[in-house]
Amino acid sequence: MSEEKKVLLHCEHLVKEFPVSRTKSVHAVSDIDLEIYEGECLALVGESGCGKSTLGRTLIQLHKPTSGDVWYKDVKISAMKPAEFAPYRRQMQMIFQDPYASLDPRMNVRDIIAEPLVTYKVCENKEALTKRVLELMDAVGVPRDFLYRYPHQFSGGQRQRIGIARAIALHPSLVICDEPVSALDVSVQSQVLNLLKDIQAQYGLTYLFISHDLSVVRFISNRVCVMFLGKICEIGDSSLIYEKPLHPYTKFLMNAIPIADPHLRGEEKTLLEGEIPSPINPPKGCRFHTRCPYATEKCRTEEPALREVEGRRVACHLA
Ligand code: SF4
Repeated sequence: MSEEKKVLLHCEHLVKEFPVSRTKSVHAVSDIDLEIYEGECLALVGESGCGKSTLGRTLIQLHKPTSGDVWYKDVKISAMKPAEFAPYRRQMQMIFQDPYASLDPRMNVRDIIAEPLVTYKVCENKEALTKRVLELMDAVGVPRDFLYRYPHQFSGGQRQRIGIARAIALHPSLVICDEPVSALDVSVQSQVLNLLKDIQAQYGLTYLFISHDLSVVRFISNRVCVMFLGKICEIGDSSLIYEKPLHPYTKFLMNAIPIADPHLRGEEKTLLEGEIPSPINPPKGCRFHTRCPYATEKCRTEEPALREVEGRRVACHLA
């Protein structure tokens, strides 16, 4: 990445709640300020249910924000009507977790990859469309002979390659990768991660990479944003966060990464107790205090601000 960082997408005070009754809501995303820089891979990490997928979808307007705003470059996209948003929509694509579920089993590869090109009337005729689909198959390493095959005739890794081809068909600037390798065998994960890296360089993409797996994130990300219960705990350059995590929850996640070397396993571990609190009724003060081994009275009553500490931003009274 160049030293001159330009913001591609950012949000301010973003909130997404899902009503579950007349009086109660799931607080999936709570008052988040975040910026994604052009050309970077920003990883969103945290346990299942922390709001990372909802945040990704709300940023690209697949969910309407409950409140707060989102800007693409200098344009406020969160206030737009669907027709007004359409030209921006094509700049933002998604790669989904489950390549089995995200591809229509009744469509062949040509039609799956061609779908966004047809929707946005990108090609002049059928020949040009097929030529473009074949180029995309080359780019993701799916043999041209498979043009008229159906999803059930492919392995999980090949299906994810087809999903990647569809996501880049319109030359988007931002791709949300939502757990793109977690449904794949470990042996296939690194192949798909390498492909994502190559495609990012070749197409000049910016990634928001959503994952619960910190070993995967370490391989691909420039920056890491750790979330807990709809809030950001810590955000900064990957090298800083992996070398010296400051938030107790980040430390816990780092300690949970399996270590292959038995000599390194005796390190002190931060142990977490209890279940993740309900996002319908999140705890007051620091949302992590019911599980944090260092919680004090202040943590139970006063919410920590996300502030600059040692080159990253952290939300912890003790940092
Ligand atoms: Fe733990 Fe308190 Fe820091 Fe929250 S603010 S992470 S409860 S020490």
